[in-house]
Amino acid sequence: MTHPGLALPRKIAILPGDGIGSEVTAIGRRVLELYRDKKGWPLELWDLDLGADRYLRDGTTLPKEVFEEVRDRCGAILLGALGDPRVPGLEHARDILFGFRFGLDLFANVRPCKALDDALVPLKGKGKADVDFVVFRENTEGVYVGMGGNFKKGTPDEVAINEDLHTRKGVERIIRAAFEHARTHGKKTVHMADKSNAMRAVGDLWQRTFQLVAKDYPNIVAKHVYVDALCLYLLQDPSRFQVIVTNNLFGDIVTDLAAALHGGLGIAASASIHVAEGGASRVGLFEPVHGSAPDIAGQDKANPLATVLTVGMLLSHLGYPDEEARLEAIVGKALREKQCTPDVGGTLGTRATGAYVLEQLARELS
Ligand code: ATP
Repeated sequence: MTHPGLALPRKIAILPGDGIGSEVTAIGRRVLELYRDKKGWPLELWDLDLGADRYLRDGTTLPKEVFEEVRDRCGAILLGALGDPRVPGLEHARDILFGFRFGLDLFANVRPCKALDDALVPLKGKGKADVDFVVFRENTEGVYVGMGGNFKKGTPDEVAINEDLHTRKGVERIIRAAFEHARTHGKKTVHMADKSNAMRAVGDLWQRTFQLVAKDYPNIVAKHVYVDALCLYLLQDPSRFQVIVTNNLFGDIVTDLAAALHGGLGIAASASIHVAEGGASRVGLFEPVHGSAPDIAGQDKANPLATVLTVGMLLSHLGYPDEEARLEAIVGKALREKQCTPDVGGTLGTRATGAYVLEQLARELS
């Protein structure tokens, strides 16, 4: 997650958001406070009241001045989750998420898939040593650009089209980000997953660009894999993979499968970043993969460990790479000792799981 030439501000915008977002973010915030107070790191925590409650109260989604402050003076955004049944059109979530994603051009969605305990790997005969890879999902193009429409809607002759948009620039930069990650993290192989046998024009662009970028990384093995085969291989032997790069749609699907390989949504972390020319990073957005989970919101049931791991990625982004490993180790201990929520084998609630993590961390930082 770190990139050379890093000199990011230490101001962190915190958006707990909706549902379980506020419960898990409260723990992520406490982790950051510990680093600030015990280590004396100059972390400035900026709490933002944005989300469904605010939208319902006064119609505010993402004010221009907030966006500009984040863009110009923050190093990271910590986001809980957005989504609330009281806003069925998700207007606030769309404005905030897309506002940051497209406004800050956060083209790389980075999702580590690293099993921290053998018991969380659901594959027969496999354990944590077999599951340790990261997916680089393109985050700004593909079918998610929303181009398309319906013709003769509601009639028997209806036509529906969604355009799958890929640019040379977009494909090249996500592939390069994946190789850079491999290079800086000592990984030997990068797999590019596509469906070039069926989607020929787009597949051809990805294939050519992948081969071209790979030439700049002679010490890393560049391999192609069809995305359908990738799903099969991930279940048969995930240890074949270290870094996977793919498009927006395939990344969405593959990372849900990947989450199941290491404990599910309660433990899956993610970062959306922009890697500029020369490898320097700008403000990044860090959020657990899970959504607002309205079904368990307000019941002290949400697993906060995905947020703790997400904060590890955030600290690494800000230039403290060792803390990602430290927080991973603490989460691994919580899992081993069953000091965690039921979805990952424990019996605790959100707050008690958080308290365990915070106590371990406080002891280590003292
Ligand atoms: P959204 O549309 O915002 O993504 P969702 O409810 O459709 O919300 P998620 O929030 O990702 O999707 O949750 C799917 C299910 O997974 C939830 O119903 C919940 O039971 C479970 N879940 C998600 N996150 C957690 C968590 N942190 N801890 C425990 N269970 C979780």
